[in-house]
Amino acid sequence: MADEVDPFESLQEQIDDAAQYVDIEDGMLQRLKNPERVLETNLTVEMDDGSTEIFRAYRSQFNGDRGPYKGGIRYHPDVNRQEVKALSGWMAYKTAVVGIPLGGGKGGIVIDPSEYSETELERVTRSFATELRPFIGEDKDIPAPDVNTGQREMNWIKDTYETLENTTEPGVITGKAIEDGGSEGRVEATGRSTVLAAREAFEYRDEDIADATVAIQGYGNAGWITAKLVDEMGATVVAVSDSSGGIYSEDGFDPVAVKDFKRETGSVVDYHGADEAITNDELLTMDVDLLVPAALGNAIDADLAEDVQADVISEAANGPITPDADEVLAEKDVIVIPDILANAGGVTVSYFEWVQNRQRFHWTEQRVNEELEDVIVEQFWNLVDAYEEHDLSTLRVAAYVVALGRVDAAAEEFGPWP
Ligand code: GLU
Repeated sequence: MADEVDPFESLQEQIDDAAQYVDIEDGMLQRLKNPERVLETNLTVEMDDGSTEIFRAYRSQFNGDRGPYKGGIRYHPDVNRQEVKALSGWMAYKTAVVGIPLGGGKGGIVIDPSEYSETELERVTRSFATELRPFIGEDKDIPAPDVNTGQREMNWIKDTYETLENTTEPGVITGKAIEDGGSEGRVEATGRSTVLAAREAFEYRDEDIADATVAIQGYGNAGWITAKLVDEMGATVVAVSDSSGGIYSEDGFDPVAVKDFKRETGSVVDYHGADEAITNDELLTMDVDLLVPAALGNAIDADLAEDVQADVISEAANGPITPDADEVLAEKDVIVIPDILANAGGVTVSYFEWVQNRQRFHWTEQRVNEELEDVIVEQFWNLVDAYEEHDLSTLRVAAYVVALGRVDAAAEEFGPWP
């Protein structure tokens, strides 16, 4: 694991790699490599036993030139300032690459949620929502789920905000339960874009994803939905894993059965339908057609990349491949669909949720999925055009060329006032 790679440095390197192909002024480039502001706060929360605990929490607002800041909130013991800054930048370029009128932000709390009761997590979340209250709003900054957060946390944040503001404003947050103003298709959206982008990448190689063998690292929301949808397209999911380890089956897994098993036991590891147990590194270097990193950042470093055998990688996670690893994979002609497109389904359907909230209207699941498919397919080929036109080394550079151009164009409209 490339623990020493600073994700914020990775982000800045990715922007620099693209900047040479974009006509952008130096000072503006510096601005677009750094967040506009970062909130760091210490939440003071009462535990069930009456004791008090402090939790460090962050919200980074990276860029708001194209619209309100947008991005998730993660709960994880490894959350730190550099990571949150990087993740907020990836959001700014993600919303730009899919062309939705939103900026980029990200938040996180340093916490292992599995060690706390539901009532404690509710108090932690409501405390963070209270701190965030002056900074968020449907036209300011719109949080969403990320690692270890979901509808439950979003509903607590919405309720805290609306109660304190004495208003109804469902668009202040996305990823809500349907009953609380959520959108159809939002839970599946990240995995759906991961699979749609992969389908197009196979088409680009004149191949059919239905013939592909697939390995998926991580079996949380993004990983398991990817497994389900790629299986529905006819591909064979031969390997899956979570933080405890992985499993392999030559004939392929039933993704839903594995999900049910993980829900019951906490892990995929002892699943009865597996041929053998494997490690995460074995999964990442397995001889499959499609590899989907769907866990945390820095999963594939340069050393590991040397051993990668997949033809296509679709990044469901944010920042799973280090810049050095990217170079190795490019030399090996592996097609990497960058996170800012591959997992952009989440924020794209968040945008649809926000639009529905503002219209006080509810779209059908079919409409959501069709509009999402249009966005991902169109932008995938847009990246291919940029990649071929400038003879770029990777689709990631192409994505940043497109995204940086869009954010720069919006920023230039305003200039540096005041
Ligand atoms: N956390 C997701 C991401 O990294 C979704 C963000 C959102 O919906 O705003 O893209």
